[in-house]
Amino acid sequence: MRIKPLHIIVFLSFFIVSNPAFAENKPQNESDVLRYTVEPGDNLGKIALRFGVGINQMVQWNRLAEPKVEPGTELIVKSKEKVKEEKKKPLPVIHRVKRGDTFEKISKKYKVSIQKIKRWNRRVNPRKMQIGQQIRLYIPGRDGKSVSWGKANGGRLYNGDAMESVPGMRVRNVARAYGTKRVVNLIEAAAFDLKVHFPDAADVEVGDISYRSGGKMRPHKSHQSGRDADISYFHKGNIETGFRDFDEETFDAVKNWHLFKTWIDSGQVEYIFVDYRLQKVLYEYAKSIGYTEAQLDPIFQYPAGRRVATGIIRHSKGHDDHFHIRFVCGELDKNCR
Ligand SMILES: [Zn+2]
Repeated sequence: MRIKPLHIIVFLSFFIVSNPAFAENKPQNESDVLRYTVEPGDNLGKIALRFGVGINQMVQWNRLAEPKVEPGTELIVKSKEKVKEEKKKPLPVIHRVKRGDTFEKISKKYKVSIQKIKRWNRRVNPRKMQIGQQIRLYIPGRDGKSVSWGKANGGRLYNGDAMESVPGMRVRNVARAYGTKRVVNLIEAAAFDLKVHFPDAADVEVGDISYRSGGKMRPHKSHQSGRDADISYFHKGNIETGFRDFDEETFDAVKNWHLFKTWIDSGQVEYIFVDYRLQKVLYEYAKSIGYTEAQLDPIFQYPAGRRVATGIIRHSKGHDDHFHIRFVCGELDKNCR
């Protein structure tokens, strides 16, 4: 028998349906909540990273008296509403044609291109529009969802979510710390997980993420679309320092590695910019606790050289007093590159 793509799809769907691991993590229909049984070593931060939800949401859904969970407990990790919301297709904004309307006028009013209006309204003849006729426009953020739009160094943020200080991370200036809801959840979840493993850790400082609506933020080129965050490193000895130059003596490889690894394991990280010298400290620490070179290769630029474009953890000038993390584009993010 020749293997055709369809066979692969049939085989894969059989695998997904018959594999209990998948079945357990998949709501069957819209009215389902998503449940998960807590495993040894789990904490709410880890679970939040895995399912892409907020810790506070899980606390609410499960009416937890405190943000703690025991292995064996069955948790709601996505409420009915959340499951429904994720399945919903974006709703268009309906513009009703007025006297004198043209595609150009509508394009200016809603800040979308004429080409897009044409694509969304193939049946409408721009030269023969009727008064009252409906024009459909898909405008990011109009449905209230948080969207990263465009490039990190030429983008915007719709319905940005303010990152507030949480145990483990102190926000320097909330007005400059807006990200997509997803990105803020990812940062908070990793901070939570870190505090579970290192309860005595001093807070690191969250510097700039983006402005509420994104766009240019001096002095950065990026930080425009709610996917970039500057955060100070952990200092050895649980000393709280904020941004300051770190070296081999002061850099806490144990906690910094734990934090980075938590994010990298979530699959949501595009880059973490770390000074090359500090990468070496991290790399050597990771090796000392049993990671092989083959495991570390896709993660680190080190030891390939600071100008070689490889790895998630990369050198970029000015990252010896803080690291810069860029998260990958989310499902809702438009024109995201
Ligand atoms: Zn930065």
